[in-house]
Formats: sequence, C-alpha cells, structure tokens
Amino acid sequence: MTGLAAAWELQQQNVPYVLFEASGLLGGKVETTLADEGFLIEKAADAFILGKPYAAQLAREVGLEAEAIHPREDTKKLYFLRGGRLLDFPGHLKMFVPLDDESFRASGVLSPAGTERFLNEVNVPPRPPTDEDESLASFVIRRFGEEALNFIVPIAAGIYVANPYELSMQAAFPQFLKMEQDYGSLIAGSRATPRASGPIFMSFREGMGALPAAIAAKLTGEVRLDTPVLRVHPDGVTLAGGEKVTGSAMILAVPAWYAAPMLSQGFPETAQLVGELRANSSVAVTLAYRREDIEFDMNMHGLLVDASEGIPLKAMTVHSAKLHGRAPEGHVLVRCFFVGLEPMAAYREAVKEVGRLLGAKEAPLDHWYGDWRGKNPAYQVGHLEHLARIRQSLPPNVKIGGASFTGVGIPDCVNAGRTMAREVLILRAAEA
Ligand SMILES: Cc1cc2nc3c(=O)[nH]c(=O)nc-3n(C[C@H](O)[C@H](O)[C@H](O)COP(=O)(O)OP(=O)(O)OC[C@H]3O[C@@H](n4cnc5c(N)ncnc54)[C@H](O)[C@@H]3O)c2cc1C
Repeated sequence: MTGLAAAWELQQQNVPYVLFEASGLLGGKVETTLADEGFLIEKAADAFILGKPYAAQLAREVGLEAEAIHPREDTKKLYFLRGGRLLDFPGHLKMFVPLDDESFRASGVLSPAGTERFLNEVNVPPRPPTDEDESLASFVIRRFGEEALNFIVPIAAGIYVANPYELSMQAAFPQFLKMEQDYGSLIAGSRATPRASGPIFMSFREGMGALPAAIAAKLTGEVRLDTPVLRVHPDGVTLAGGEKVTGSAMILAVPAWYAAPMLSQGFPETAQLVGELRANSSVAVTLAYRREDIEFDMNMHGLLVDASEGIPLKAMTVHSAKLHGRAPEGHVLVRCFFVGLEPMAAYREAVKEVGRLLGAKEAPLDHWYGDWRGKNPAYQVGHLEHLARIRQSLPPNVKIGGASFTGVGIPDCVNAGRTMAREVLILRAAEA
C-alpha cells in the first residue's frame, strides 16, 4: 500500500516512475481471496480506520466510493474472555477509555479493586512534559494501574502484536500522550472530546484487495511485477537478474527485513540501523463452519482475550457477522489470532477454542492460514529517534517508509507513501 500510494501521488504530479514489485501481485499484505465455496478471505487487514482520512481519500480518488462498506451495527457485539468465561465487552468506550463509569463497573472485565483503580485515572496527575519515550506497559500502569494491562493490551494488540513492555508510546499511541498533557487524564480528555458520529471503520464490498486493485488499474506508469530489487544505490537500483535501472530518487516501501539487505552495499550504516528494527510473530487461522454446527449466537464482531488468561489465543473476529458478504448464507467465517504457535498447532488450537468457547459441534468445512511469524513491526521504545537516525543516514533522494517505520495501519501506509512522493517532488523542484 505504501508503494502504491507513492506511485499514485507521483502520477498525480506528472512525475515519471517505475514501480518494482517482487511478487506477481500488487497490494502486499492487503489481499483478498474468494474461495470456491463463496467465503471471502482477507490475508491481513479486514477494514481500516477513518479517523486518519488518507486511505478513504485515496479510495475516493480511484473511484471506489460506491464500493465502501462499514462494520455492521446490528451485529456490533464483542465479548471478553476472562477466567474462562465470555463476558460482555463494556459499552461506551473510546478505544479502551470508559465514557461512563457505571457500564465499565457492570462489565466485570477487571476485579472490583482493579476497576476502581482504572476509573481513578482521572485523578492521576499527568507526567511532567518530557521528550522521553515510554512503553505501553509503563504508561498503562502509571495511569490506570497494573491490572489494567490485562484489559488494555488485548485492545492494543489488535493493532500491534507487541510486547507491552517494549512497545513505544510515542510511535504507537502519540494521541494518548498528547491527551494526557492537554487534559490531565485520558478519561477527562476522552469525555471532553466525544467521537464524531458515523462509521469508524471502512472496507469494500469485494474485500480490502479492491483498494490495491483499483489503484493498480489506474496506474499509467511502468509497473514491473515479479521484479525483486536486489540493491539500492544513490543513483538507482539493481534488480535480482542483475539489470541496473537508474533514477533520480528512490522510495523504499518494503518492510525492514527486506530493506536492510537491499541497503547493505550502498548504505551500510542505514542497513545496520534498519536491521536493528525488531518484529514480532503471530499466526492467524480462518475457519469456515455451517451456521447450524455452532451453538453460540454468532451475530457478533468477535472476542478479545484477557492478557492474563495464559492461552495462545489472543482474539477472534467473526468476519461473517462483522461485514456483509464474507460468507454464503447459513455459514460462519471466524478468524482466530495466536501468538507463540506454529501454523499447524494454531489450526488445532483454533478448532479446539471454537469448540470450547462457541460450541462448534462439527469440524470446520475449510481453513486458511496467515503466517505472520517475524512479520509484525515491533516499534520498540525509542522507535521515532531510531527512525530519525535511519533517515539522517540516507541522502535526500533516498526515502524509506511503510509499516516497519511510520505506522502499521493502512491509512498510515498511504500517508507515508504519498508524503515520500511529495518530498521527492520538493527535491526535484529545488534542483531544477
Ligand atoms: C493479520 C494482519 C491484520 C491486519 N489488520 C489490519 C487492519 O484491520 N487495518 C489496518 O489498517 N491494517 C491492518 N494490518 C496492517 C496492514 O495491513 C499492513 O501494515 C500494511 O498493509 C503494510 O503495508 P506496506 O506497504 O508497509 O508493506 P507490505 O504490505 O509488506 O508491502 C511491501 C511490498 O514490497 C514487496 N517487496 C518486498 N521485497 C521486495 C523487493 N526486494 N523488491 C520489490 N518489492 C519487494 C512485497 O512483495 C510487498 O508487495 C494488518 C496486518 C496483519 C499482518
């Protein structure tokens, strides 16, 4: 998405470009497959957030507005697995911040003492202003108490499969640091700034793959599929087959683990810094069932698992109920996320947990894997400083961005791609 957005922006500005893609398909992690039985399988993202407008704006520009769909309101139910029981997820939350005390108390997602400490966040003085980064765990414990980690980490892990003691607040949740400074507390800030009405997330009738497909169909520049870049130099790239292509500027829109070897010859210092970026592992297993084979009311968006539950399952999303058109009538499609398992073990665990928690009486009709081992950017404490060093180590005509560097969500990736393209333009203008 980062590379496509960069190419799209260059095209809008009439700058000639060549887009190199190692695989046979554009879109990277954003890919939708329509299985024979009529199930719509998302490889990674199933929707994106509208609070950052970049992806929705790009969708409009490539003519996808009429294809937009949003998570269903009539099935908007979530559960929280705690102590082996499925509890109703608290209502009236802004991300994880309770907008009213009573519904949070009634939910029972924390112990009574943990709940009162959580709600007392409103009285915790803000940290004195500082440029120093801190981890998600440090922030949560400081503001909401230790037990709050069990509830907040699963919500944050929906975006970042990360160790909360290592995840950088400045890189992952700068809005919460700002709210703490602006309002004194997250509860006060969230209550003072109610969410705008309307949908929060967006997807497309035919799946998230519609976005890269629509951009690709409108690209008029040179697009070379099945063409891995081997090396990046100050004046161009060398392709895997040995061909050298020259260019006045290079935009690297690949994850850190691919970028580091590409940079090692031309920019060894950058390669070293990029190679220091860590990634975490997860595995997703999507299972298809007949509706009648599951006892639980599957009209729900899914469930999250308390971080202290001690099981490899971290969350489930019921795609068939969350979005229209993801499963044929009378069927259920559920995606289970795991940390710390191999794909085969994750499959066995997914079948077991859907049986235990949701009462599946039969084996699934089919299943699909998403193997994300070593592929979830970790954004460790100090990430932004590290990113600044990476960028400073490159000449102005070599740009780097995308999920490993500048935000994992699709809107962030689109923004990163377009921003890098505009920076290249400014450089061209300055040189002209
Ligand atoms: C399971 C999962 C669920 C997710 N859910 C959501 C969600 O609901 N909402 C959301 O907003 N985000 C979600 N994300 C995050 C989001 O999908 C990704 O962060 C984003 O799509 C990454 O885009 P990118 O452009 O940075 O990188 P990538 O998608 O990794 O693209 C990089 C591209 O570079 C190509 N490439 C690699 N090496 C070379 C080379 N040597 N030469 C040429 N090309 C090369 C690759 O083939 C690929 O096409 C999810 C991610 C995962 C894993």
